[in-house]
Amino acid sequence: MNILITGGAGYIGSHVAKQLLETTDHTITILDNLSTGSPKTLETLKTIRDFEFVKLDLKAFDKIPEVLQKHQIDTIIHFAASIVVPESVENPLKYYMNNTVNTTNLIKCALENGVGKFVFSSTAATYGEPDSLPINGIDENFPTKPINPYGMSKLMSEQVIQDAAKANADFKYVIFRYFNVAGADIYYDDSAHTQLNPRIGQSFPNATHLIKIASECAVGKREKMAIFGDDFYTIDGTGVRDYIHVDDLADAHIKAIHYLDENPSDIFNVGYGQGFSVRQVIEAMKEVTETDFPVEHAPRRAGDPAALISDNTKIKSKMQWIPKYKDLALICHSAYEWEKKL
Ligand code: UDP
Repeated sequence: MNILITGGAGYIGSHVAKQLLETTDHTITILDNLSTGSPKTLETLKTIRDFEFVKLDLKAFDKIPEVLQKHQIDTIIHFAASIVVPESVENPLKYYMNNTVNTTNLIKCALENGVGKFVFSSTAATYGEPDSLPINGIDENFPTKPINPYGMSKLMSEQVIQDAAKANADFKYVIFRYFNVAGADIYYDDSAHTQLNPRIGQSFPNATHLIKIASECAVGKREKMAIFGDDFYTIDGTGVRDYIHVDDLADAHIKAIHYLDENPSDIFNVGYGQGFSVRQVIEAMKEVTETDFPVEHAPRRAGDPAALISDNTKIKSKMQWIPKYKDLALICHSAYEWEKKL
């Protein structure tokens, strides 16, 4: 396959690129505007195997057909997007432009240039703030009711993709709804696997995500952190989430591009189907890194649901996706080892 990865210099896109470069012989082209993606990550990826890099913002969509033709792209994995929820509330049009409009333009170019497969990174934020969590977690048929422009911009993109596929028999998609992605490249320096030494990870500063913030505390870049709300109806009162290692998530994308050879388009949750509270995550980070740091209590963050846990039955049964890193300690450890290198 000739695969275009948009946003391939970013956190999740680079882990997918890494696996494609390492474990397949597909030809890879990465397209990124480097607004949040990292040139250093691209350099690291080049040490694995060479690929083409195109520095381009997707809003310059008149340039996309040339890229698709030059590299004879048959498959697009589309990550490039704006992803900060509070920013999406302050500047919604940025999200509708960068996410929904750019995705629509990209699909138009894809249809006009014979691209047959499209893998899209969507989010559990499309489910919004469920009143209560179903006993087996949230499955793909759970009502989608985003509560912020970020989630809505992704849900609207999903709709565009589905409608485009309905009208074009040669265009197939997999839409992934990610739960809480965390951790960094599982790479060991030694054959005994004692020295975890991630080559890539989450590089963008001003993190808002829990595991990134806790790892910044553990390495001493931050003095303290806060727990946002301890009066939720959960095991210890703090928010519960389904944390998934970025390499397991990346593996789902590799499965998806082959899945589409034999199977129809579909939407899949990607999560482990297990939840940990904020307190449990912070404890795990402290334990695995043998560090301690102050943790304060702060009010709930607007729009934070009590618990979000996936029902991942569909991806496991249909794609035979088998997670390898379903271990909170390993997720925290890899995030910490990466943070030390930043
Ligand atoms: N959280 C927290 N302190 C922080 C960052 C996050 O207590 O400094 C909580 C947040 O309220 C939520 C959970 O950790 O309950 C996961 O938040 P994150 O921002 O990582 O992901 P989200 O689920 O919001 O996408």
